[in-house]
Amino acid sequence: MTPVFRFAPSPNGALHLGHAYSALLNQDMAREAGGRMLLRIEDIDPQRCRPEYESQIYDDLEWLGLDWERPARRQSDHIAAYRAALERLAERELVYPAFLSRAAVKARVAAAEAAGSIWPRDPDGTPHYPTEERMQNRLQAQARIADGERHLWRLDMDKACARFGQNLRWTETGSGRAETISADPQVWGDVVLWRWDAPSSYHLSVVVDDALQGVSHVVRGLDLYWATPVHRLLQTLLDLPEPLYHHHRLILDESGHKLSKSIGSTGLRSLRLAGLSPSDIRRRIGLATG
Ligand code: GLU
Repeated sequence: MTPVFRFAPSPNGALHLGHAYSALLNQDMAREAGGRMLLRIEDIDPQRCRPEYESQIYDDLEWLGLDWERPARRQSDHIAAYRAALERLAERELVYPAFLSRAAVKARVAAAEAAGSIWPRDPDGTPHYPTEERMQNRLQAQARIADGERHLWRLDMDKACARFGQNLRWTETGSGRAETISADPQVWGDVVLWRWDAPSSYHLSVVVDDALQGVSHVVRGLDLYWATPVHRLLQTLLDLPEPLYHHHRLILDESGHKLSKSIGSTGLRSLRLAGLSPSDIRRRIGLATG
């Protein structure tokens, strides 16, 4: 089977050297493996994504010399596919509608901590969502939804892991050799799979798309390493194939911080306007030049 690679930027800002590294590394690895190279525009968040960033992505990547199969998949064109995946999880009672506001969650956590309990937190330090709504009355929940009450959909992590989370693993090649990594998605608590302010969620749409597009190699930044346990769980729940994972180093600025989309000096557009060539970019981020 032909290996399939993909670069999946979100059009919520201008591409910078970190994106160039990820895109070009994908392309180099695809070429070495005799594989295909896809581009996916992850634009499900209408608050943050802009059409002008999307056209700039195509322009910057063309200039860099990325050669992807046309047309690129745009997630906003495929919301029905993500909804169908959510419905499948709902049929098996693995997701529930979550109505608590941020303020209500904060108050729950503060009260529990004031009473001396240790509230679980995810790897980013965010408190887990309270578990009380997992058991809510289904008819009442439906009535609240029918009344238009604001809610999102969360995975019942304990139930999902109890039924399907044993021996979850993935193969990681980021260190240069294949390693088997145990995946423990429970550290994230009841992750959001469908938002109220945007359709779908990053986790759900990424696993659905990787499967629909036949992606065999997920090559992406180390900042997404800890999302992989959730992706492996969702792939298992939805019966989707398991790709290989390669989490690559991040390109940092002079002070050692992750690059941000709002910083102009490492933006591909500004570097190009300053006269750098695509080969200069490759050298600057430590990729071999042709
Ligand atoms: N859209 C994500 C981002 O821009 C990348 C998703 C992925 O590679 O899995 O960070």
